[in-house]
Order: sequence, then C-alpha cells, then structure tokens
Amino acid sequence: MVTTTKNQTANLFDLFVLQQGEEGAEAFRKQTDLVADTIADVLRGTDQPFTGLSVEEIKQQLRPVMDIPESAQSLNEVLEEIKGPILKNSLHVSHEKSMAHLHCPPLLPGVLAELMIGSLNQSMDSWDQSPAATYVEEELIRYLTETVKYPVEADGVFTSGGTQSNYMGMLLARDDFCLSQWNHRVQTDGLPEHFTKMRVLCSENAHFSVKKSISQLGLGEQAVIPVPVDENHQMDPDEVVRIVEDLESEGLLPFAIAATCGTTDYGSIDPLEDLAEFCKQKGLWLHVDAAYGGGLLLSQEHQHKLAGLERADSMALDFHKWLFQPISCGVFLLKNRKYLRLLSHHADYLNPAEDEEEGILNLVDKSIQTTRRFDALKVLVTLKTMGTSLLGSMIDRTMEVAQYAASELERRPGFKVINPSPEMSTVVFQYCPEDIATPGELNRKIQQQLFQEGRAVIAKTAVDGETHLKFTLLNPRTSENDVNEVIDEIEKTAHALVGGISQ
Ligand SMILES: *Cc1c(COP(=O)(O)O)cnc(C)c1O
Repeated sequence: MVTTTKNQTANLFDLFVLQQGEEGAEAFRKQTDLVADTIADVLRGTDQPFTGLSVEEIKQQLRPVMDIPESAQSLNEVLEEIKGPILKNSLHVSHEKSMAHLHCPPLLPGVLAELMIGSLNQSMDSWDQSPAATYVEEELIRYLTETVKYPVEADGVFTSGGTQSNYMGMLLARDDFCLSQWNHRVQTDGLPEHFTKMRVLCSENAHFSVKKSISQLGLGEQAVIPVPVDENHQMDPDEVVRIVEDLESEGLLPFAIAATCGTTDYGSIDPLEDLAEFCKQKGLWLHVDAAYGGGLLLSQEHQHKLAGLERADSMALDFHKWLFQPISCGVFLLKNRKYLRLLSHHADYLNPAEDEEEGILNLVDKSIQTTRRFDALKVLVTLKTMGTSLLGSMIDRTMEVAQYAASELERRPGFKVINPSPEMSTVVFQYCPEDIATPGELNRKIQQQLFQEGRAVIAKTAVDGETHLKFTLLNPRTSENDVNEVIDEIEKTAHALVGGISQ
C-alpha cells in the first residue's frame, strides 16, 4: 500500500520536474502550448490598458484563487482560474494608451527568451553553473562598452536594473575615495573615521535610488547634496562648481557626482561634458544614471544627445525601460575594470582564489548578487532577431510621438506644458483652465478617474508641489491619434469633474 502511493507520487514528479529526453520534451511542449493559448486568449479578450476594477473588487476576485491546495490540480484548471482575476486584471503595458511610467511594452523576442531563460535556469555566479551563458554575458558587456565608446579596460555586469546599478556606482566611488584619501579599505575595515564628511552631488531631479544607495552605504541621506536645475531641468554646472567650493571650504569631502541622463520626469540630460571635465580636474568620480536615456544609444536621430557619456567612470543602463525588455534587465558599466577589485570576495564553494589563477571566469566577482538571472540572453535574442537599426527606429518613433504630444498640448487651450521640447519621450503638463482655482486637485482627480475607467493610463507627478500629468511614451505602436484621443479623454473628464464640482 505504502509503496503504491510512493510510486504514484513519483510518477507525478515526472509531470512537474523539467527533464531531458523525449518524455520531458513532450511534457514541455504540451504545457507551454497551454500557456501560450491562455495568453493569446487574454490578448484577444482585452482592449483596455486596465479593467478599471477597484482594489476591493480585485481582492474579491483573487480570494478563491489564493486558496492553496494540498494535492495537485491540473494546469488547465489553474490557468482557467487565474486568467480573469490575475491575468486580465493586470496592467496591460502593451496597450497603446498605457503611458504612465517607464514601464515598457515587452518585445516578443524578449518575452520568448524569458521562456528559455527559465527553462535553462542558468545561474551567472560561477562558470560551472553557466558555462555558455557566462561568455554570452561577457561578450554582450564588451559589445555595450564599445557601443558607449568606452576604452578596452572597460567592464560591467548585468543587474536587476537602475537601482542596483546606481548602488554599485556609489559603492565603488565611496570605496575608491576612502582608499585614495586615507588608504582605508572599507571592504575589510568598515567606514573610515571621517565618513560623515563625505558628500555626493546629484541633480535635484535625480532618481531617488541615488539617495537611497548612499543611505544604505552608511553615509546617510545627509551626504547627498541636491544641485538646483535650470529651466531645462538640467544640473547647472556653475552651481556644481559653487557647491563643491562651498563644501570644501567647510572642510567637507565631495567625492562623486551622480549625473542623470534622462530624468524620470522630464527626460532631461545633465551637462555630461562639463561635469566630466570638472570631475577630471577635481578627481571626483562621475557616475551617470542612464537607466532611461541609455535607450538613445541605438537611436539614429538622437544618439548625439549622449555626447560625454563615455567620460563617466561608471553608468547605469536599463533594458527594461526604453529598450523594451521584460523586467528585469539592466547593466552596470565601468570605465576601468580595476575597480571591480573593490567588490570581490571569495567563497571556497563558489569562486575560490585558485579559480581566478587558472583563468576560470566567475561573474560573481563583478556583481553584488550571487545567484543571478541569465538576462543577457533576452538582449542577445532581441538584438539578433531585430537588428540594431529597427530597434533604433522604434526609439526614434516614440520620440516623434512625444514631440507631437507636447506640441498638441501646447496648441489646445487650457493646457500648460512644462517641457515643450521633450529631450526624451516624456511630456509633463497640466490642465489648468483659467477659471480653476486649484488645478493640482483637478489634475489629480483626472488621473485617478482615467485609471478607474481603465481607458487610458497616464502618470501624475509634482511640479513645484502641485500635481501635474505626465505621458511616458514608450510604445512604438502608440500613434499621434492615440495621443489625441487620450487628450480628448482628459478634457472630457475635466469638464465632467468641474461640472460636478460647481453644481
Ligand atoms: C527607473 C529609473 C531608475 C531605477 O531603475 P530600476 O530599473 O527601476 O531599478 C533609476 N534612475 C532613473 C533615471 C530611472 O528612470
């Protein structure tokens, strides 16, 4: 009796554990077909970016699904169960009118590569867990360092995204400074005596992950000095010089500038050439957060905007933003690989020092993660199936539509555009007809209402403390007409809200 049960259970193992051989191949094919059919149904059966259900309704629909059974359930049954509550209630980022965040519609080659990434399940930490993948990543990193015009000493690693890449830039900048300033090794000895004097400069519009990183690195948020931006939302280089001189005269120790190439709200680019020159003179580390702006690397028409990027000591680039890859996919690039030493720790079971002597490449030495995804594969499959030219023209198309959106909003009465000549593909604006005393409140309601109706998903942000609206145009299939229709919706919603308020 007992043995039969065990055998039956063992047969079930075959159904669920991915296995080599004919049987495994068939199980894999059958089940991926079922999943493909389910996703196809969702794509067929949804025509809005969001169902528009309330939190309560979503929770209600999820409740029975979240019941975890003790015994097996067929895949078909589970797919059927999750299709509505989870799949359909997701935000449909591929919809042409989904234009809120830096959250892209994923390209098919990337989505399909995810299936391979999961099936192969390589881990990028040591060579013996990713014998081919290690070299795919290495070669892609080399390709990327060449594309950004870095010298041959450059290196890098795939990361979970801009946050992790910014963290790595700040970590290396901190540790290199402590080493050169005090001959102090943070890696072994912790923070040095005078760490409270260390300062980093970044734009007041920089991504919050810069401040978060510095805080997590033990320097405290107080170590981050926000630099005022000019009317184009770029760090003012004269202000940078003034602030650094002021800090030095107070006996403080500025050690790095974290510039942004494509701020989250305005897509603005800090003056990279000026900052690079200044950092060189002063011996400061220049990190460039190009999580968003890195997309322009493949643009035919706007690549020139990245001039000076190659002078950064380190940079963050995201593929899951303006390079249309499924989450997560980013890289950290470093102008000189010698600084990677500041990161490396050895573990006998993973990357023993002898491995290095024998020339075995364990990528864990370059990363702050251990087990790590083979994200490089989706970039490779995308670049190869599409070619760089088509991918670049997708980026150019989103730029074109962003410029159209800005000019159309400027043309329509009642709208005020904060960045009328968008540097990248975001447009920040407000609907503020003259008879409205509190446009911030109205715009907040417009954004909410559109989301609740699920017809268009746009973003909100604050400008001088007041709510504004934002389009983030990352979908190359979003057209001028889609933009017009969303603006019409905004006007219609505003009129209904204002009518409602005044009645
Ligand atoms: C999105 C973004 C980040 C954070 O990147 P994640 O990939 O979300 O970790 C950092 N900087 C900028 C400018 C961004 O737009």
